[in-house]
Amino acid sequence: NTFAEIDLGEILNQNIRRCKYVKPTPVQRHAIPIALAGKDLMACAQTGSGKTAAFCFPIISGIMREPYAQRPRVGRTVYPLGLILSPTRELSCQIHDEAKKFSYQTGVKVVVAYGGAPINQQLRELERGVDILVATPGRLVDLLERARVSLQAIRYLALDEADRMLDMGFEPQIRKIVEQMNMPNRGVRQTMLFSATFPREIQRLASDFLSNHIFLAV
Ligand code: AMP
Repeated sequence: NTFAEIDLGEILNQNIRRCKYVKPTPVQRHAIPIALAGKDLMACAQTGSGKTAAFCFPIISGIMREPYAQRPRVGRTVYPLGLILSPTRELSCQIHDEAKKFSYQTGVKVVVAYGGAPINQQLRELERGVDILVATPGRLVDLLERARVSLQAIRYLALDEADRMLDMGFEPQIRKIVEQMNMPNRGVRQTMLFSATFPREIQRLASDFLSNHIFLAV
């Protein structure tokens, strides 16, 4: 019932203490070990449940274990290893702020990109290097079309508030994004889908994007 039992390693445990998290929330207690074991996950989680940490820690932990010494890049195209999709600018910024705290002193670099704001600052930030990209679907499609981001190296994908993204009409963008991930290496990617509700459309996304996933309702 403590974070130490989840065994995220010393650096991440230190960052958890810095955040003043004493005890994992139910979604964290159950989702983090499943994700650390490399399994796909579909989780029922409301705002305020602590879901951000539940998907960020396994992604950061996994990237810390990656053997790559350098971030891959070809010309101006960057290749993040982790992608977190969220419906709005506000939520993306919140996730980015938390993920930065969680990844303190790990060497894992987190960048955010969202629509409704000038793209140039975001492009400059991406060019400095990125391991985990937090993005809204529309802006990410724009970055893909400009060939400033490639999803060929994605190892970890998290979809946050998936039901809200569908309500906002992002399904075509989300499908386009996931189609660009390493298709020949299906199974290399670990996917986590978080949603407050599970209508038929979300179940369809889950069966299209997840493989042998564990369903978690807390
Ligand atoms: P979230 O549901 O991820 O948006 O988190 C809601 C709020 O709870 C955020 O302000 C988090 O920083 C905080 N929080 C998340 N996990 C914990 C925890 N284990 N202990 C205390 N606060 C937490």
